[in-house]
Amino acid sequence: MDFGYTPEQKALEQVAREFVSSVCPPERAKEWDEQGTLPPELFKGFADMEWLGIPFPVEAGGGGGGAIELAILAEELGRASLDVSMCFTGTIINSLCVFEHGTDAHRELLAQEAFDGKIRFAVSMSEPDSGSDVAALRTRAERDGGDFVLNGQKMWCTGAGLPGTQIVMYVRTGEGDKKHDGISAILVDPSSPGVEMHQTPTLARHILGTYELYLSDVRVPVDNLIGPLDGGWKVMLTNLELERAMMSGAYVGVAQATLDEMLAYSKQRTQFGRQIGNFQALAHRMAALQVDIDAARLLARRAAWMVSAGIPCSREAAMAKYKGSETYVAAARLGMQVLAGHGFSTESVMSFRWRESIVATISGGTSEIQLNGIARSMGLRSY
Ligand SMILES: Cc1cc2nc3c(=O)[nH]c(=O)nc-3n(C[C@H](O)[C@H](O)[C@H](O)COP(=O)(O)OP(=O)(O)OC[C@H]3O[C@@H](n4cnc5c(N)ncnc54)[C@H](O)[C@@H]3O)c2cc1C
Repeated sequence: MDFGYTPEQKALEQVAREFVSSVCPPERAKEWDEQGTLPPELFKGFADMEWLGIPFPVEAGGGGGGAIELAILAEELGRASLDVSMCFTGTIINSLCVFEHGTDAHRELLAQEAFDGKIRFAVSMSEPDSGSDVAALRTRAERDGGDFVLNGQKMWCTGAGLPGTQIVMYVRTGEGDKKHDGISAILVDPSSPGVEMHQTPTLARHILGTYELYLSDVRVPVDNLIGPLDGGWKVMLTNLELERAMMSGAYVGVAQATLDEMLAYSKQRTQFGRQIGNFQALAHRMAALQVDIDAARLLARRAAWMVSAGIPCSREAAMAKYKGSETYVAAARLGMQVLAGHGFSTESVMSFRWRESIVATISGGTSEIQLNGIARSMGLRSY
């Protein structure tokens, strides 16, 4: 399938595939996960390839690319692991948010420090009592002279503890008729006095890490406001479709890698004198999985194409996120069955795939939340 990619897009796909083979093959991604470290060569590699500036205008020092290039990279990096791909997607989406809604000084910071990987961005919406119900967030920012003063608790902030990270944090600055009103986006340096941060022990996502943040009288200059005061909800939604298209690409890449790995195993493992892949019980399930992966890929690429063409696609992006994430979970589960005892050994890459797949249908909006949106687009209320 080439989807009418330009020669440049095909070349990008090839280069990204070679990057994964040389810098972050799955075995290495697994080791990094086990060590719980973001290896410098990974993020520096993104910067050296000039991928961190891809979606920004050339005149701002970026690459002038768009959603299709980003989705290609997300898919290829997904062949290493979901965590590796999210390392790229997370910082791109939040850099875009700062670029589009920040000040000229923020844009300068991006050109000087973010495109070459000196700093990176994370996002913090979730709180202990506000997960799927994002707009119920309670962390507050009060204006005090030239500063905002932040108090509250945040959870699940991916990558917050990595060096050079700035957080786009959503906080309550006012009240309105709806809970979506009165939310603002503020750029927070997690090394600021008053921020206490703890890494949450998790099944996977250990390269980036996920963090809990306690904020006690944290002072942030008012210039760090990203977008209008009390207008944070719209800021949050700006790149949601692109984010979902990229995440869907990552799920497709990692699901395909998972299938390729079980297929290779099933062709060399023999039992009862036959390759196990030739037992119809397994052959059919792997064939059906390839159908699901191709369907997920088509949905992911449709979403990326619609974003790049400027066509609103919240329904299509939700479909791609839903199908891709569920397909990765199904692929990892089948992989464990095909590899059987060998998969259950924590030395296997498959055991790593299985551990990290679980989060696909949770982070970035659960499968149920995607289905709610799709159902609403069909005229159903779906609470
Ligand atoms: C590894 C990881 C990384 C993350 N990274 C970030 C990050 O960087 N920044 C950030 O802000 N957040 C992040 N999150 C948080 C993530 O977005 C939330 O976990 C997710 O939105 C779900 O919220 P919750 O876990 O509180 O589950 P809940 O919202 O409590 O949901 C529990 C269950 O109820 C279901 N449910 C809830 N509401 C409805 C409804 N209306 N209809 C049907 N079913 C419903 C859910 O689908 C789920 O099955 C991350 C989470 C994880 C696990």
